[in-house]
Amino acid sequence: MEIIRHKSELEIALNIERGKNHSIGFVPTMGALHLGHLSLIEQSKKYCSVTICSIFVNPTQFNDPKDLERYPRPIEKDIALLEHAGCDILFLPEVNEMYTTDESWKINLGYLETVLEGAQRPGHFQGVTQIVKKLFDAVKPDKAFFGQKDYQQVMVVKELVRQYAMPVQIIACPIVRERDGLAMSSRNIHLSIEERKAAGLLSKALQLVQERYKKDSSSIEAASGLLKTNPLIQMEYLTVCDADTLQPINQSTQSAVALLAARVGVTRLIDNMLLD
Ligand code: AMP
Repeated sequence: MEIIRHKSELEIALNIERGKNHSIGFVPTMGALHLGHLSLIEQSKKYCSVTICSIFVNPTQFNDPKDLERYPRPIEKDIALLEHAGCDILFLPEVNEMYTTDESWKINLGYLETVLEGAQRPGHFQGVTQIVKKLFDAVKPDKAFFGQKDYQQVMVVKELVRQYAMPVQIIACPIVRERDGLAMSSRNIHLSIEERKAAGLLSKALQLVQERYKKDSSSIEAASGLLKTNPLIQMEYLTVCDADTLQPINQSTQSAVALLAARVGVTRLIDNMLLD
């Protein structure tokens, strides 16, 4: 695997691949890789001739400086995992490679930025779109692979691509879970043993909504009740929305998704499940 730290070198390496008519698959990450990330690499390898992964802990998407500071950065382990997964190129830029000091451009995400993660983490999706735009401009991938784990993020990235008419196909991949159902996340390593046990309840709550939603109007209350049984869990939201728009459910809703965010101890986790 080639490790590239500068956009100029990346352009040279990728132009060589394009010259051979090779398709480029891209997996943007913030590192601390787990099987969820590696499933995206696997998908990219399946559909594209060359797979490039980026590791960049993007400062502009953290609205809590403490969260940014304590974000895990096990780079040597990540490199070994990517080598083993057969990734072709790792793009590993420093912050000053990606940002100038006076950057303040924004994109109008409309409704998408006013709900759920947008409402709970002001500015988060502006940071996400800034870095994804910069990475897409640098990599110019044919396909980019994102996890359904960050459900709203996939919608935001699709909106970015639509507004800038970027020639990239966004592919959403299924959530990879631990044995007890907990969605894999780089933040899970912050959980104590007790918190880790408690965190298993998050996916149980979503499962409960999934099983009962169609026949029982109180399924969300029941799932919230389940989360409240553990004092280590503090729910931020648990809701069902239109899966295509994240608008409240109405008569024209074709498919629905249950989404939740909760703190387990001080660690903030998100998860979701499609209901159809
Ligand atoms: P992150 O490093 O957290 O920014 O995540 C990088 C990519 O991996 C994003 O597209 C995430 O949605 C995806 N991802 C994170 N966790 C999982 C998971 N458990 N299953 C599938 N994809 C995931």
